[in-house]
Formats: sequence, structure tokens, C-alpha cells
Amino acid sequence: MPAAFPRLVASPLGESSLTSELRRDPLSGRTVVIAPGRARRPGAVRPRIETPTQEELDTCPFCAGREHMTPPETLRLPEHGAGGWQVRVVPNLYPAFERQEVAIHSPRHVRSFAELGDGEVELVAEAWRVRARAARDEGFPYVHAAINEGRLAGASLAHSHSQLVWLRDEPPAVIQEGDAEAAVCEMLKQIQHQSGPAEFEVQRARDVLAFCPPAGRVPYEVLITNPGAKEGDAYESEGLRLGLIVLRDVVRRLRAVEGPVPWNAWVHAGNHLHIELVPRLTVFAGVELGAGIYVNTLAPEEAAARLRNAPT
Ligand SMILES: [Zn+2]
Ligand SMILES: [Zn+2]
Repeated sequence: MPAAFPRLVASPLGESSLTSELRRDPLSGRTVVIAPGRARRPGAVRPRIETPTQEELDTCPFCAGREHMTPPETLRLPEHGAGGWQVRVVPNLYPAFERQEVAIHSPRHVRSFAELGDGEVELVAEAWRVRARAARDEGFPYVHAAINEGRLAGASLAHSHSQLVWLRDEPPAVIQEGDAEAAVCEMLKQIQHQSGPAEFEVQRARDVLAFCPPAGRVPYEVLITNPGAKEGDAYESEGLRLGLIVLRDVVRRLRAVEGPVPWNAWVHAGNHLHIELVPRLTVFAGVELGAGIYVNTLAPEEAAARLRNAPT
């Protein structure tokens, strides 16, 4: 196995002036090649979130006034009051799993999580908490919450929403992480040992830290975590609410740097709550899918500097 970051192995991959570095991620165990020279190759794709069509605006089933187009809701927030809903949760019409729900983030046709206000993000966190509790009561102890933004990231509808997949066991990615708390701790120590904490840091809000993991698999990958927290249930924790607000801010930064790019984000609710943000500026190909080695064309320390200096 390659040495864990920061003991890097330099391995030139045919670039005349730029060498690539092999890094290992302590949290996932994944191997990543940091290869900035690859970004310059001709023909590299630049995925974008498409602009809305009139049809999208006329037919969006998640907009207020079109509630009849979704299955009956399992939750609306606020639950009472004359002002109408802010967040709705409905069963997924095309589920891949036994139970799969969609949380609609706003009655307005908001196309990015970045456009949500603090109060709206807090209601999303509350909706996830209430539905995770319902899932647990019905025999699904683990809920996988994920946001896909942009068609190239798997979103079939543009209106901002999240998926809540009810699972009877922890998913493989969380099992593989094992003791996530120890791994995150190790990563933070490595970062500080290497270069001081600021180099990989993107944003800090109270105890919540957003940083680019040194062995991020894609450009601008960000990990959001509360390093000191001893979480019980992730969905019941204060860290989730703060973490989602930081995620919103980081997506704003990402859009300031790169424009409206597609991305995925998810909660890992194992023994240590964290949120992973994976922008989809590059396409996984034969090396990533076949060898299980990710080729990242932007050094995470450079990505962090760009995001840190961008406005929210
Ligand atoms: Zn809509
Ligand atoms: Zn994770």
C-alpha cells in the first residue's frame, strides 16, 4: 500500500514539468493520484448545470401549488400555521430501495442549495431528523441522506431536494470507514503536522470545520466535520444543522470559483457525523472504476485556497 499522507511517494506520470503524488485517505482507505498536469490535457470535459427551460418551470412537481403531482407527503414543515409549507417530504415515485423519500427544500423554484437561507437550511436538517426518527421506529436504523445537484450528478429534477434512503444496516461506505472519528482525527493531525491548519481549511463556523481532505478524490472535494463532538445519533445532533449551513456556504464558494457545477453531497452517520461534498467537474473513467485509484487534477491545498478566498 502507498504511504499515508503526508509521506508522499512521487511518481512521474509522463508530465515533463509536473510530477504526480500518490496519497492515501485515512477515512475511506482510498488511493488518490494528485496529478495537476492532467487538467491541461485537451478535450477534458467541463460539466455545468444547465439553465432552466420554460417546460421545467411550467411542470416542476416540487413547486408550491403542484402538491397534487407528488405522492401524499409524509412530513411538512412548519407542521401547522397558515403560511404554507417551507419543506415537504414525500415518498420517491421511482424508489430503488424498500423505502426512499424526497425532501423538497423550498416552495420556491430554487435550483441550488446555495440559494437557501439559514432558516430554510435549518428546516431541511429538521426534516431529516424527523424522518430519520420515523425510519428508526419502523425498523430502518440507518438513513442515508444525499443531495444531488445537476443532471450530471444524478438529479432528474432541478428544484433543490434531497434523497432519504432508509436502510436496515449501515451502508458499505460507512462500514469501510470503521472508526471514522479516529480517521478524521488522524487526518486533522496530518494537516497540521504538514503545514499548519490553514492550508487545507475552507471555513470554520463555531466547532464545525470544512476542509479539503489531502487525498480528496476529485477537484474541490470538501469534508465538513465537528472534530471535537462526541455525537450520539447524527440526526439528533446540533452538528447536522451547523454542518448543512456550512455546506450551503461551501457550495456558494464553489459556484463563485467555478460557476454552477454539478455536485453530490451526503451525510455519513456512523460513529462520527460528517458531510462529504464531491463536485463533479471530472468524469470517473477506467482507472477510477477499474483500479479503484482516483486521479485528482487539482491539488486539494490549491482547491482549499481558492474556496477559502471566495465569497459566500
Ligand atoms: Zn420547482
Ligand atoms: Zn465518510
